[in-house]
Amino acid sequence: QDELVKAVDRIMSHADSVRRLGVRANADTPDDAARARRFGGQGIGLCRTEHMFLGERRQLVEDLVLASTDEARQAALDALEPLQKADFTEIFRAMDGNPVTIRLIDPPLHEFLPDIVDLSVKVATDGATDKDRRLLAAVKRLHEQNPMLGLRGVRLGLVIPGLFAMQVRAIAQAAKEVPGARPEIMIPLVAAVQELESVREEAAKILAETGVEALIGTMIEVPRAALTAAQIAEAAEFFSFGTNDLTQMTWGFSRDDVESAFFSRYLDQGIFGVSPFETLDREGVGRLIRIAVEEGRSTRPDLHLGICGEHGGDPDSVHFCHDVGLDYVSCSPFRIPVARLEAGRAALTDSDSDTR
Ligand code: PEP
Ligand code: MG
Repeated sequence: QDELVKAVDRIMSHADSVRRLGVRANADTPDDAARARRFGGQGIGLCRTEHMFLGERRQLVEDLVLASTDEARQAALDALEPLQKADFTEIFRAMDGNPVTIRLIDPPLHEFLPDIVDLSVKVATDGATDKDRRLLAAVKRLHEQNPMLGLRGVRLGLVIPGLFAMQVRAIAQAAKEVPGARPEIMIPLVAAVQELESVREEAAKILAETGVEALIGTMIEVPRAALTAAQIAEAAEFFSFGTNDLTQMTWGFSRDDVESAFFSRYLDQGIFGVSPFETLDREGVGRLIRIAVEEGRSTRPDLHLGICGEHGGDPDSVHFCHDVGLDYVSCSPFRIPVARLEAGRAALTDSDSDTR
């Protein structure tokens, strides 16, 4: 057993010594962050913040949704800020001076608002409160046919004034509290540089006021963002490829339905050997990534580039990320060893062909 552990350790340290790709984790809790460190993660490449608004905090989200005045909205945000600050403080502590990319909230609304049917039933009963009735009206108003293509990410940040600012302030305050913290702020679902510019300006102002330094960057997960990467890079210090959404939007497949719907028939019939949600589709999604890398670096040669979709932990996709010149992959903590190993193998394949 000991021998085996030692052999695996030797292989991993060899992979680490040759690989060019950094390996980070997708982690949104202090536990995940600690696990990521144990598996050799060199930072967090994606800290999703959506789940931080669930559980007991749903009440505050409801207050936000129901706010009909600027004061009421700000009061709901003010109540959330210290909770968010505590979330980020714990994660910075767990990462012990390694970079932490925090993605501002990107909730598909259907996962966060109360279920419309449940609420309708409740409102139809005698015990319903005025709040239930107002909530039902709000949920109906916000209902979308395609929530994954709807009011998410940067769109939500632009539509609800103060939401992103609250998160940025919480990140900055948390970073001040943890010596050596290295926050990076990531804006999701950007399709056009104009969306990014206005969020960036607000975030940069808050960082300057608090005296905290943080990179500000964006996910590249909408095809238009990849195609206009030269412009987007003017407002971003880093790109992280969100290949889950990028695959969905490039193929026009719904992420939520792909497993159960027609796509499994494609796999059964052998039309495709593997799902593009598992292994990066080099011809389509990969082509968009290549364009974005080239265009982004033409605007900003030191643009930092990573991937944080599920593909970041898939062996074949890790090779692609190496070939296309990304700086790091980010994946689930449990896939970090595989990513380290494959990043090493990709680097060795390079040097083999160099000497041929
Ligand atoms: C992605 O789209 O690839 C991504 C990492 O973001 P999420 O899965 O949270 O949409
Ligand atoms: Mg996404």
